[in-house]
Amino acid sequence: MLELKDYRTKVHNDWCPGCGDFGILNAVQMALFELKLEPHKIAVFSGIGCSGKTSHFVDTYGFHTLHGRVLPIATGAKLANTELTVVAVGGDGDGYGIGAGHFVSTGRRNVDFTYVVYNNGVYGLTKGQASPTLPKGLRTKSMPSPAIVQGINPIATAISAGYTFVARSYALDVRHLKETLKAAVLHKGSALVDVLQTCPTYNDINTKEWYSGADLPTKAPRLYKLEDTGYDGTVKNPDDTKEVNEKKGQAIMRSFEWGDKIPVGLFYRIQQPTFEDMLADRMPAYKEVPLVKQDVFHRDVTNLFESLT
Ligand code: SF4
Repeated sequence: MLELKDYRTKVHNDWCPGCGDFGILNAVQMALFELKLEPHKIAVFSGIGCSGKTSHFVDTYGFHTLHGRVLPIATGAKLANTELTVVAVGGDGDGYGIGAGHFVSTGRRNVDFTYVVYNNGVYGLTKGQASPTLPKGLRTKSMPSPAIVQGINPIATAISAGYTFVARSYALDVRHLKETLKAAVLHKGSALVDVLQTCPTYNDINTKEWYSGADLPTKAPRLYKLEDTGYDGTVKNPDDTKEVNEKKGQAIMRSFEWGDKIPVGLFYRIQQPTFEDMLADRMPAYKEVPLVKQDVFHRDVTNLFESLT
């Protein structure tokens, strides 16, 4: 019988006290445990940044790869072994900055895995420079002057790129994040979970007090759940172009709400053939036996060579 501790390593953790990364790590471990996925059938890959240590702390297969390159690694792993549950994790600087090209390409392919982005608005590991999600004009305590370039909107970018599951959650709401992650892992296709993450060391703007609305006259929390408003981002008929475009449009509109109110939850979901499905249409053997279990070293290629002569 699996227990939650089976998903936790004993590797020393040196994240700063109070970092939102702890909430995300707990939610990842709890989601995998509650889905009853066996650790030896899971791979967790991570990019560079504070979040990159996650793959050291989750007791599954996986590794800590290069800056901005977690998505091609996760893609390769999933395509080589379709029986694996693959989870890629990284920061907003890693994924939306140096890895931005891979971020877009991953959405276009729709390989079946989950990408969790620890979005804190700064490059925490290198002392808090502005990351791609910090809005223009903001200046955190680690910056000499305000950001002079626009921040990107990960939700809108993901929907435009083709991700088939796009959600946002909050690192300090572990229950909501855990349930969002479970839905993302169960989804067949590329799933993005953008997680608003507090960095108490370098981001003194988007703090837990700010998210809780402590600075607002109403003192009401900024974050609200889309699901509590009757919002439904799931496409019912993927062949209905009108419905697809309407759902994408409403999701993108909601994703730009950022101020006194900020939505979290599922923005958009659609069921479409995965990259693996489309490969299997061309190569039936691909679906029957994962590449890692095929005997690639003892194949009779006589016919192939004869066809080339
Ligand atoms: Fe967390 Fe920020 Fe510290 Fe990194 S620098 S461990 S993101 S609090």
